[in-house]
Amino acid sequence: TDRPDLVVVGSGFFGLTIAERCATELDLKVLILERRYHLGGNAYSEFDPETGIEVHKYGTHLFHTSNEKVWDYVNRFTTFTNYQHKVFGKFEGQVYSLPMNLALINSFFGKSHTPDEARALIAEQSSEIDTKDAKNLEEKAISLIGRPLYEAFIKGYTAKQWQTDPTELSADIITRLPVRYNFDNRYFNDKYEGLPTDGYTAWLERMADHPNIEVRLDTDFLDEDVSAEFKGKVPIVYTGPVDEYFDNVEGRLSWRTVDLEVETVDVDDYQGTGVVNANDPDVPFTRVLEFKHLHPERTYLPGKSIVVHEFSRFAEPEDEPYYPINTADDREKLLKYRDLAEKEPMVLFGGRLGTYKYLDMHMAIASALSMYENKLKPHFADGAELK
Ligand code: FAD
Repeated sequence: TDRPDLVVVGSGFFGLTIAERCATELDLKVLILERRYHLGGNAYSEFDPETGIEVHKYGTHLFHTSNEKVWDYVNRFTTFTNYQHKVFGKFEGQVYSLPMNLALINSFFGKSHTPDEARALIAEQSSEIDTKDAKNLEEKAISLIGRPLYEAFIKGYTAKQWQTDPTELSADIITRLPVRYNFDNRYFNDKYEGLPTDGYTAWLERMADHPNIEVRLDTDFLDEDVSAEFKGKVPIVYTGPVDEYFDNVEGRLSWRTVDLEVETVDVDDYQGTGVVNANDPDVPFTRVLEFKHLHPERTYLPGKSIVVHEFSRFAEPEDEPYYPINTADDREKLLKYRDLAEKEPMVLFGGRLGTYKYLDMHMAIASALSMYENKLKPHFADGAELK
């Protein structure tokens, strides 16, 4: 028969890594089912035909990792530019350099500080509340960085992100709010960082480019005829939403989504950098992206740029689920879904949606590599039970 050895549901980094390893190392025939019109999951991007600008369709994706194994693996499929991510934040008509550092402290308080002076200032301002007494996100943040910085750089942004006043958010949402007492404004601390030289989609397509891998687009595994064809008949790695798989029997897990308003503007350079956060509470969007700045090495049509205004809100069932909200209620449901998942024969659940965990790309890849090593390879190569 031409039944595949393995079905992978979802063609994001998790599913592609599983498929690539099983096809390349174990010579298995892998069928990837993807419900969107394209492969690649949320890292997918398209080059705008008019301007030549690479547009990340589901929000900006910055690759970074300190994991040697992941770095070696991804370099088989793409090279990386030397892009280093920087973020700025606008508040009350001024632009500041993030993450919070000496540049921000100096411009915000209108005076130059040595590292020790800045440390003393923030220690004094944050002494207002003891961290262990913090009852909500606002109190926790003030106990870590003091009220003035909290009110400018955390309060408005967080309220917009969660559509909830920070006094009503759990203190657990933040564990630390690092302040750097130097002028370092690199956003990520990882050993490796960069953007795929010829774009995300070229990278994702190369992972699927193997004679043993077939990708079937516009195909929803949860459609009855599709699941009937494969469920219980071949091993399946499922990377879609875990609650949907079980028909939401325990209720829906809650997610935040982001609305992206993409627009082509008639200026060469709109904001001078890739990402500017909007910290003012009365500005409705959370941040503005300008894709051109992610690839300064490329040539573009002059006089044009593409910018995106991002708006954060709770996801409705028909929205793209982006960030797990993870309330106590969600965690309770998740435990029940995990139980069901454990018992589901011949199906492994993985990835961001399958485990209800926010995973960066490098984490999704690392987690897929370990599922391959610890579960799939023992099963297919040595006949171990698939669990
Ligand atoms: P996904 O990429 O979500 O892929 C899952 C795939 O499964 C999707 O294509 C979906 O259509 C498909 N699917 C679901 N259900 C079904 C079904 N029933 N049948 C068929 N197909 C189905 N990571 C970083 O490292 N850096 C970043 O800057 C970064 N920015 C991000 C910004 C946003 C807004 C989001 C949401 C994520 C970001 N990430 C970033 C994370 C990155 O996108 C994830 O690592 C990646 O999405 C995880 O891969 P995945 O394969 O688990 O899931």
